[in-house]
Amino acid sequence: MSVSLCQIRNNYAHLRHNVALLRASGKPIMPIIKADAYGHGLQNFAEVLRRDGVDHLGVGTVAEAVLLRRGGFDGVIVALLGAVSDEDILALHTYSIVPLVHEWTSLNRIADTYASGHKDKPVSMAIKCDTGMGRLGFPLEEMARVTEFLSARPQLNPEFLLSHLAAADTRGEEDFTRKQAETFREAGTIMRRTFPEVTLSLGNSACLLAFPELVGDLARPGIALYGGNPLHGTSREILGAGLETVMEISTPVLSVHPLKAGQTLGYGRTFLAPRDMLVAVAGIGYADGYRRGPAPGTAMTVHGRRALVVGRVAMQMTCLDITGITGVQPGDPAFIMGGEGQAVGLQELADWWETIPHEVTCILGKNRLL
Ligand SMILES: *Cc1c(COP(=O)(O)O)cnc(C)c1O
Repeated sequence: MSVSLCQIRNNYAHLRHNVALLRASGKPIMPIIKADAYGHGLQNFAEVLRRDGVDHLGVGTVAEAVLLRRGGFDGVIVALLGAVSDEDILALHTYSIVPLVHEWTSLNRIADTYASGHKDKPVSMAIKCDTGMGRLGFPLEEMARVTEFLSARPQLNPEFLLSHLAAADTRGEEDFTRKQAETFREAGTIMRRTFPEVTLSLGNSACLLAFPELVGDLARPGIALYGGNPLHGTSREILGAGLETVMEISTPVLSVHPLKAGQTLGYGRTFLAPRDMLVAVAGIGYADGYRRGPAPGTAMTVHGRRALVVGRVAMQMTCLDITGITGVQPGDPAFIMGGEGQAVGLQELADWWETIPHEVTCILGKNRLL
């Protein structure tokens, strides 16, 4: 039994459309499906992407990578948070998982663990260089030492060199992005002197769409796969305008009833009916991740048509103005995002919530697990 009435489905035709759009630049991609595929469900997403010719996937934790491997994914899996525990480190070999390695403690621990044995197959890693995000990664000045350390240990194989851009989606930050790319190029040059085969990977969705020439050998798109336009609100917005929302989330209508002019609706009596209206109560609220204080204009889709949210969003219920939408019955779906007709798009919902699309799908996607 579920505590949420919401139903979540993925529109995989839209996913394939987004993948095709991202491949248009000609760059190979490693889709990023960390955090349960940004709330879309790890396993199904991986299967669809695999059938679409994807052979590299990026996840967050080693545990997610293990799930993916146990689920049958036979391509390369990179765990972007690295191997954190001893259990993680042992899983690298058992499940052929590539950890992100971004500092000396974990590099030493992995080296010590695999110092002897496992000589049949070296442990692959993705070395992370920090070029300006300031979060994870070896600074450029350490890259020569890291390379030397690795070259002395044939059981360790730096298959990838990664870095992450801080502001490829931010207006006025083009110079910073190009500076990061230049630092990354230098790091790549250092590592390739010893490891000419290392795969260089810099770009997220925003970089792949806006600066495809900077992504290196392998791009790492995340949000664009799911239909979020990382360039929304920038001068390059058009480059991501064709992306389509993948997640569809609906919930049943619980009640349909009239509200007379002058009556109020919901907690705090914040809504006063300006005229005779018809109201539907949708079975979703802030417990399901639907924001309590959405901006005016926030709507859902009922029978393919927009219905404005009216009154306060409650814990498991939200009221909609369905005046003029005929034939709505309890049990009919109200679409929070996606669906038929005047569907709410991912970016639109993110704007109403004054956040980024990543947060919207991660939050709503939790209902899948409830
Ligand atoms: C999440 C993530 C990405 C994908 O970023 P988007 O902005 O969603 O495209 C790429 N690389 C790393 C290291 C990440 O953590």
